[in-house]
Amino acid sequence: MNAEIIAVGTELLLGQIANTNGAYLAQKLAEIGVNVYYQTVVGDNPERLESVLKVAESRSDLVLTIGGLGPTEDDLTKQIVAQHLGEPLVTDAAAKAKIDDYAATSGRNSTPNNAKQALKIKHAISLTNHNGFAVGDLYLNQNGTSYVLLPGPPAECLKMIDSELIPQLKKQGQQSRVFTSRVMRFIGIGESQLVTDLSDLIGHQTNPTIAPYAKMTEVTLRITASAKDEQRAEEMIQDVVNQILAKDGQYFYGYGDDNSLANVVVQQLITRKLSVTAAESLTAGEFQSTIGSVPGVSAVFPGGFVTYANEAKHQLLSIPSAVIDSQGVVSKATAIWMAKQARQKMQTDIAVSFTGVAGPDELEGQSAGTVWIGIAYRDDEPEAYLYHFTNGRQQVRARSVMAGLDLIRQ
Ligand code: ATP
Ligand code: MG
Repeated sequence: MNAEIIAVGTELLLGQIANTNGAYLAQKLAEIGVNVYYQTVVGDNPERLESVLKVAESRSDLVLTIGGLGPTEDDLTKQIVAQHLGEPLVTDAAAKAKIDDYAATSGRNSTPNNAKQALKIKHAISLTNHNGFAVGDLYLNQNGTSYVLLPGPPAECLKMIDSELIPQLKKQGQQSRVFTSRVMRFIGIGESQLVTDLSDLIGHQTNPTIAPYAKMTEVTLRITASAKDEQRAEEMIQDVVNQILAKDGQYFYGYGDDNSLANVVVQQLITRKLSVTAAESLTAGEFQSTIGSVPGVSAVFPGGFVTYANEAKHQLLSIPSAVIDSQGVVSKATAIWMAKQARQKMQTDIAVSFTGVAGPDELEGQSAGTVWIGIAYRDDEPEAYLYHFTNGRQQVRARSVMAGLDLIRQ
């Protein structure tokens, strides 16, 4: 099913507000396998809205409008769509009762323009507005284009998408097919490399589809299958997942939209009963802050060290000045000393250390983005690894944290 989103509002057109509802809606549709091919923004103007509707229905199976369902003069989306479909507007009894109830309890008279918000397209399914009055519509046209009308205020729109629209679309889909998707998350590999590795799979795959997405420090793949039932769709997804894991399994770390590497690593540590600490120079506590955001981390994280200046490394971690003086602060030796000392002082199973050049300037003749990450695990010989990160100070620090988490994961 191909969908098109039309955001209605002069303030959107002029850039006074961003089309956040459209972004949210597109994501939610993708999750159930509905492809959004176009998004349009149009002002509060009847002729131009009508012409946009005509274009949309010529190329899309599902047209979704956002905004213009309110009580005022410039709110004309429902009237224009109804007119376009040749459908009358009728009063939705539940929505009207809600408006009347509110008027009664607040001691005000319900005005005719309030009643306008209770109007629905006659043959549409009403989408209840849990955070406002304007009722939404789902007009299903099995032979041609279907229409959805959503309110503009984000609190109303997002709630209606989640609790009314998506369940309805899924229900309609069940008569024919269901859509299911799964997100795979990867660390330590770039998007272009992953896509190259999987080019055969991605190129030939129409069901399930594989959609890559690069975030700042990681890459995700969304795999979406449509099938006659949920179980078959899951099997199809699993089959593709297995093929992906066979190629790039070493970079895969977890499933899910809201999962994070910190979350996966902390859960692993809790399960394996391994405690962790850190000694941080260029990341200045960002690693500890990141694992600190995971609920339950206190079971495995007693605390750690932020040792930015050389003096702090000496005082807090008792690293001999001679090590830093002779090897440099951005060095394998310093990273190893930091990890070893942190582990010993905090009495943990694991310690990770970060020393490097966040930039923009170079340090000790080493370029910005040069980072050593050390790791000490129990009585094993501590190790340190060299990284070269790019894209500025904040990315160098964020990528260092991710690389440190990745080292612990292995
Ligand atoms: P109302 O009852 O408030 O008039 P409405 O359904 O008529 O609601 P609009 O008048 O188009 O919707 O917009 C109401 C408010 O919602 C706007 O002031 C704007 O701040 C916000 N809004 C509208 N469309 C969007 C959008 N696509 N993304 C984010 N915010 C939006
Ligand atoms: Mg309005």
